[in-house]
Amino acid sequence: MGLVVILFFFGLAGGIVGRIKGSSFVLWFLISAAVPFVGLLTAICYRWDNRELRRQCPDCGRVLKLHDAVCMTCGAELEFPEVAIAPEVAVGPPRA
Ligand SMILES: [Zn+2]
Repeated sequence: MGLVVILFFFGLAGGIVGRIKGSSFVLWFLISAAVPFVGLLTAICYRWDNRELRRQCPDCGRVLKLHDAVCMTCGAELEFPEVAIAPEVAVGPPRA
């Protein structure tokens, strides 16, 4: 019975961390409860790359991360943009 309580609190902590990072509470609750320690650490360390704001290179049009200072494609130095592109999760996956 004690183990169930411990797993519940691991799930709760993982779920809260996941929710703060903009993901699903239930998803991270289940992950953290199923694999305590590892699941919770994963929730804390997971980088939400596809939630970052993006920008478009004015020279070659490539979409980059907002914090990129130099374009990886054409090497252009980039000013901090006035307009950011919404994160991928907000607009859905790119169409092929
Ligand atoms: Zn470029």
